[in-house]
Amino acid sequence: MAFDIKKIRADFPILSREVNGYPLVYLDNAATSQKPKQVIDCIVDYYSNYNANIHRGVHSLSQEATDAYEQARKAIQEHFNIEKTHEVIFTSGTTHGINLVANGFSSLLEKGDEIIVSALEHHSNIVPWQMLCERTGAILKVIPMNQDGMLVFSEYEKLLSDKTRLVFVNHISNALGTINPIKSIIKKAHQVGAAVLIDGAQACSHIKPDLQSLDVDFYVTSAHKMCGPTGVGILYGKEEWLTKLPPYQGGGEMIAEVTFEKTTYADLPHKFEAGTPNIAGGIAFGAAINYLNAIGFDAIATYEENILEYATKELLAIDGLKIYADIKEKTSVISFNIEGIHPYDIGTILDKMGIAVRTGHHCAQPIMDYFKIPGTVRASFAFYNTLEEVNRLVEGVKKAKMMLS
Ligand SMILES: *Cc1c(COP(=O)(O)O)cnc(C)c1O
Repeated sequence: MAFDIKKIRADFPILSREVNGYPLVYLDNAATSQKPKQVIDCIVDYYSNYNANIHRGVHSLSQEATDAYEQARKAIQEHFNIEKTHEVIFTSGTTHGINLVANGFSSLLEKGDEIIVSALEHHSNIVPWQMLCERTGAILKVIPMNQDGMLVFSEYEKLLSDKTRLVFVNHISNALGTINPIKSIIKKAHQVGAAVLIDGAQACSHIKPDLQSLDVDFYVTSAHKMCGPTGVGILYGKEEWLTKLPPYQGGGEMIAEVTFEKTTYADLPHKFEAGTPNIAGGIAFGAAINYLNAIGFDAIATYEENILEYATKELLAIDGLKIYADIKEKTSVISFNIEGIHPYDIGTILDKMGIAVRTGHHCAQPIMDYFKIPGTVRASFAFYNTLEEVNRLVEGVKKAKMMLS
């Protein structure tokens, strides 16, 4: 399929609305993506035609819903090149997946064991590990970053030892767009016998990770950043790890047999899927993945690279504008500031012109502390954005600068 931007934009109903009297320019894709009608229709179809609880009814509707839900799991398995279907655990999103693993490691860690995280993490990736360390007496170590917004690999190598149990890094930084060298990170961790969990929340809308070739132990992501609905995501775990980890939540669906003396747990993946899941969400996640693959991740990458290059060049032409992590190894995210102007003020003026960007610390305060700034303006682009929209952003930023300085 050729990359037809007009046709693609027509798939997203929200892109034709106005905000504050202007056609919407949506550049907050790193917070959540917009949804194509293929995904929206899928949710409407589920609730209109075959809504039923799954894995428990003998009746036909329940069977249809179960089949659709399990088919989505298969589509996800295939997309990420996961070896076994039961290694795909449905979650409510990335945060849930991380907490599930962090909680599971409580029973596997001992005092003095070490967990390595990176300086480029989202808050949802820092706090669960701090809580895990409090519970177990394990020690948290941090891979430092540099002025380019990249991790310092040689420092990572120094942190690794036979005490390292778990390494946790995001695939792509949500605040800066930096692509981390996860393949090398995983390889090094395995050399000391540590497991690796990768947070793919920011990556999966831009690239198609091959989890078997990465040889990663755990990988988490959310559907809502890749054209799917909110409230659903996946945890991938190697079977041996998922078998070792205890269940996270108790409830229906996750048990094999229950008596008051003893409960035995269900097989994977159900052991980690207590309660009625987000059925419509899971099915629509599958639809989102099919939608993205029909466009193709190579086409998406080429298109987004062009947008990123153009936007970077045009923004840097503005006097006093600084981009954080203006590097080659990044996706279509531009985090910037203008000297002497608070990012929030720029965001507010852009909004008045119908341009949606994110301002603030982007749930990554340690990065902002490192650069000694209160936050940044973040414009994050998706494959449905256009060069004309970049022009609107650049004009908007120029106008904001004139008004505020
Ligand atoms: C968005 C994001 C998260 C959190 O995802 P939720 O869907 O809110 O659970 C975690 N890490 C990164 C890198 C993110 O971009």
